[in-house]
Amino acid sequence: TLCLGIETSCDETALALVEDGRLLTERIATQVDAHALFGGVVPELASREHLRVLAPLVDSLLEGSGRTLGEVDVVAVARGPGLLGSLLVGMSFAKGLALAAGADLVGVNHLWAHLLAPALEQDIAFPALGLLVSGGHTQTYRVDSPLAFEVLGRTLDDAAGEAFDKAAKVLNLPYPGGRIIDELAQRATPDKTIFPRPYVNNTNLDFSFSGVKTAMANYVANHPHLRADRMMSDMDELLADRGERGVLEELCIVCSSFNWCIAEALRIKVDRALEQVGKDVRSLIVAGGVAANSMIRSAMTDLAKGRGLEIILPSTRLCTDNGAMIALTGWYLHSAGYRHGMDLEAIPRGRKIPWDYCQLEI
Ligand code: ATP
Ligand code: MG
Ligand code: FE
Repeated sequence: TLCLGIETSCDETALALVEDGRLLTERIATQVDAHALFGGVVPELASREHLRVLAPLVDSLLEGSGRTLGEVDVVAVARGPGLLGSLLVGMSFAKGLALAAGADLVGVNHLWAHLLAPALEQDIAFPALGLLVSGGHTQTYRVDSPLAFEVLGRTLDDAAGEAFDKAAKVLNLPYPGGRIIDELAQRATPDKTIFPRPYVNNTNLDFSFSGVKTAMANYVANHPHLRADRMMSDMDELLADRGERGVLEELCIVCSSFNWCIAEALRIKVDRALEQVGKDVRSLIVAGGVAANSMIRSAMTDLAKGRGLEIILPSTRLCTDNGAMIALTGWYLHSAGYRHGMDLEAIPRGRKIPWDYCQLEI
């Protein structure tokens, strides 16, 4: 079964072809430069960019794989959560493509797709505990199979990725800031007295990152020399500028401390989730853009090792948004007999994705 996956939920236009669970080819057009000017994703701009690049990207994908549109059996598309306009562009395109190819249509939960992405690289032993840390979400899941997800804990306010991005913005680091904070953090040892570990003194499984985001803003207000005069355009410029002013070392310590307190909050809550509902769990999946973070990767690796679990960490390109994870998840759903009709609706951020598939005759 050949499945073409389409991802347009945010600022990447991404496509992939997955055949029987294996990745054949993928294409990704990132909009990061377009949004960098504004220091964040501009929804209207994102929709227009998706619309502009989707058709040529599909041509390039098919050409690169030596397949024709007629050979595609399934068109899988991210139906949410995400930016509504961006989702609508991808979904309308997917519906047209499915009709043209005579293929089945499957709408995919973008968050499930993040958690299943590593299955393209290694087998996942179920049941698994899933930590999803991305730009818009921070959640723990119990995952009993590629089709059975149960949310255990979630953020009450900001996502971990948002905290990274806002912290970077307040320091005038290059956009997008999560990866930059990671790189700076690796150059120093955290000072564990600077930022408190957010929302850990309770007994629940939820997260809260708005407090630590504000803590960083306050810290920078009290230490204004840490903030660059203008937004730095790349890492080289940042290192040169901060180095010249003699604040690079201090900046790295602050980034490391900030990264540490987020990693610790994640570690404590994942450990608690395993304790409360994961005694029979066999592996720990860490997914989403923030799963690229080195401190978080090593904290989760240690945690899994200590509990005798297999750690499942996708490679960096599978952490952030991509088409392969959508195609793979669509393939899982289709193999189990699920498909959508042409009335498939997009689900914006903040709304629960319904389980509203039709059952195929299989
Ligand atoms: P969602 O999946 O919740 O809709 P999204 O798709 O926008 O959100 P992703 O593309 O999965 O999110 O991840 C993007 C986020 O990952 C950004 O907040 C970015 O700063 C963060 N990120 C990427 N690399 C790193 C890193 N090395 N360290 C920390 N954060 C990182
Ligand atoms: Mg993104
Ligand atoms: Fe995402």
